[in-house]
Amino acid sequence: MPATFLGPVCHRSSADCVLCRKAACRPNFSRLVVLQITQVTPFLVDTGGSKSWLFVKLDTDEGLVGWGEAYTQQDRDAAMLAHLVEMGRHLVGRGPFAIKHFSSVMYLDYALRRPAMEFWSALSALEQAMWDIAGKACGQPVYNLLGGPCRARIRVYANGWSEQSRTPDQYAQRACEVVARGFTALKFDPFSNPWRTHIGRAEEDLAVERVRAVREAVGSSVEILIEVHRRLAPNESIRIAGRLEQFQPFWYEEPIDPEDMAGLAEVRRRTSLPVVTGEALYSKAQFAQVFAQRAADILNPDVCNCGGILALKEIASAAEPWHVAIAPHNYNSTSVGLASTLQVSACIPNFLITEYFVNFASLGSEIASRPFEVKDSHIELPTEPGLGIELDESALQRHKLPAERRPRHIRTYEEEQ
Ligand SMILES: [Mg+2]
Repeated sequence: MPATFLGPVCHRSSADCVLCRKAACRPNFSRLVVLQITQVTPFLVDTGGSKSWLFVKLDTDEGLVGWGEAYTQQDRDAAMLAHLVEMGRHLVGRGPFAIKHFSSVMYLDYALRRPAMEFWSALSALEQAMWDIAGKACGQPVYNLLGGPCRARIRVYANGWSEQSRTPDQYAQRACEVVARGFTALKFDPFSNPWRTHIGRAEEDLAVERVRAVREAVGSSVEILIEVHRRLAPNESIRIAGRLEQFQPFWYEEPIDPEDMAGLAEVRRRTSLPVVTGEALYSKAQFAQVFAQRAADILNPDVCNCGGILALKEIASAAEPWHVAIAPHNYNSTSVGLASTLQVSACIPNFLITEYFVNFASLGSEIASRPFEVKDSHIELPTEPGLGIELDESALQRHKLPAERRPRHIRTYEEEQ
């Protein structure tokens, strides 16, 4: 039995359609409307780099469409896509307003309480697309259905600008280029690849010098955000934090693997740097551990893998009494994933800042009907119904990810040092 919704909908045969946004539009609450999802269509996009984008479009029997985006990783795209297709089969025939129920039964009945990142990513995309339809059906941006705006524009920090940098001078030069574009906050990982739990003195010194070079180049008014990517052991992370404190970083992100939550709490106790975790946590139970152990000052869940828009909103609400701020992670496109991030960021009081990948902006603009513009490190809230963005399907097809791709090189033991 499909979900029902009593509310304003598109009167496709009349002039007062709430969706067309004409002056004559008037919501009509007198008609019982049964919206039903009829089709789930995924799109895997080749960005030209190591990171792909995975979108989903939901069609409904009323003609409304909804867009969502799943977080994905190199070499894991096929697994993400498989979950999206499989879970999408369970969404066809349901109503787009039964968002919380769908998320719950996917966790309980589909995943049988054994979720993995691929599950959460696929669910997040479907959940966002349901919100997009719900907002369009109501003629409101999603944030107006979630408590309304707490701010008119969303602060963003730049990421994706330092990937080709090696020397401290290269980091400094690239940082200045980003600042010249108006960004007032920028994030980077000063450590070298591949990821190692224990790094030597030379690598540690190089990381410190990269941070020093960026701070000296951008001055004291620009926030620098240090990314550690869960690499380090607790004692090494604590020691390096002590060496970085002189550069006054805005935060210290994932200094160790959050699976060692007690270790993360120890790092937080032994540094003055604000500690961030959350992008690799995927359930209420895991976030509850962060609060219980007072392991972080800031959470960075990703709307494309934490379960979606309502999940991110609920994590943010749970963080409020613990005085933990929210800085949504957004290693996704600058289109749908960013739109969903903006919608939640608008309506949570403890929002701090969110992520914007400058190297994705060009392709993001090509596939989106109206790309979001960053001005002075901020993005204005979208006002259109739903998520506030539509994708160009022909552009998605032009950049379709090839079915056969070479896997990236993963180090062998002979390459270890
Ligand atoms: Mg991170």
